[in-house]
Amino acid sequence: MTEHDTELKRLQEQLAQEAAGHKKAEEEKADLLNNVGLYIKEQNCLYGIAELVRRYDNSLDEVFKNLPSLLTIAWQYPDITCARAVFRGKESKTSDFKATQWMQAADIMVFAEKAGAIEVCYLEERPPLDDGPFLKEEKRLLENVAERLGKIIEHKETREALARAKKDIEESYKKLKELEDLKDSLLHMIIHDLNNPIAAMSGYVELLKMQLSGNLSERQNKSLESALLASRQLKRMVENLLDVNKMEQGNIKLRYEDFSIEDAASGVVEQMTVIAERDNKTLSLEITEKLPEVSADKELIKRVIANLINNAIKFTPPKGSVHVKVLSDRDAGCVCVRVKDTGRGIPKDYLDKIFNKFVRVEAKEAKTGRGLGLTFCKMTIDAHGGKIWVESELEKWSEFIFMLPCNKKG
Ligand code: ADP
Repeated sequence: MTEHDTELKRLQEQLAQEAAGHKKAEEEKADLLNNVGLYIKEQNCLYGIAELVRRYDNSLDEVFKNLPSLLTIAWQYPDITCARAVFRGKESKTSDFKATQWMQAADIMVFAEKAGAIEVCYLEERPPLDDGPFLKEEKRLLENVAERLGKIIEHKETREALARAKKDIEESYKKLKELEDLKDSLLHMIIHDLNNPIAAMSGYVELLKMQLSGNLSERQNKSLESALLASRQLKRMVENLLDVNKMEQGNIKLRYEDFSIEDAASGVVEQMTVIAERDNKTLSLEITEKLPEVSADKELIKRVIANLINNAIKFTPPKGSVHVKVLSDRDAGCVCVRVKDTGRGIPKDYLDKIFNKFVRVEAKEAKTGRGLGLTFCKMTIDAHGGKIWVESELEKWSEFIFMLPCNKKG
């Protein structure tokens, strides 16, 4: 072989190599372009679905109705691609849909259960690729769409369930409130109806006692006295119930008048001494200064004092004592009433609570009462712009204290 021939061969080989390299680069470029095209189609399809969901936020039916035509554009041969979506028994499909042998499908899972499926079919045969005539990217896209739909449905159903639960709660609350109002008005009616006969009964017993005094044996006298105390107790309970009810509904009007707190306190103490003595306890009153007049609802304030003394007697053992002290704080423009007993005391964690409705230190107190007396006292004192609280040492003593402004508030 001549030198010339050798050079020619070398050039030929070099040309062939360059041609092969060029072909490979061309193929890679075509592949890349194809991939970019697929990617753009896929993104268009996903964007279209996102738009659908945004536009028809409240209607899954609308989303499903428009879904099949959106799917077809993302496949390699849109012209021969048809699609169908099935969700909870309903189906929507492109007008040309036909279930052919060239089909790809993905399930829609909602809360781990199959709720539907999406299917894409070719209407004509195409050369085989990764998955029949389809690309693996198309399979991935279909699964991706099915998964996103599942999540969107879960999200929407959770939101709807929450909204339903909220509505249910609101309705239950409304019904409960209506029942509560009905109960309150029934209670109010019953208590109101009880009030008059009880007041009449205690009035007649009192009258009887006055008329018969001196003509009765000691036993008869004692019986009459017990009947009188019991009817007063009943009257107090009914009045407390009635007033707490009225105050809760904002229906109580305070009847302000100027009066001497000294007279009011001593009147109550005098009345309650009989109860204390009957139970072998002492009841005393201490006033060491000239007290200013008070402008308040006299009857209500007297009942506050009576409730506090009644409790003090009730929760003090025989031979114990109840001491009432009335004093003034002229700088603060207040009078202060303190009712101290030598009774069983009140546990620390109950010191605030016992002013709440129906709260009693021992739920099954053998003593009479329903946990409303102190509620009445607090509501009354609060309504006057005053303050009431209790101090106590367990097993030793309790002291209920209230401060009342001398002049009408507001
Ligand atoms: P009740 O009608 O049950 O006496 P109150 O509201 O007057 O209702 O009192 C609520 C609870 O507070 C009582 O049941 C009792 O447990 C406690 N209590 C009230 N006063 C005293 C007191 N002076 N000593 C001890 N405990 C008291």
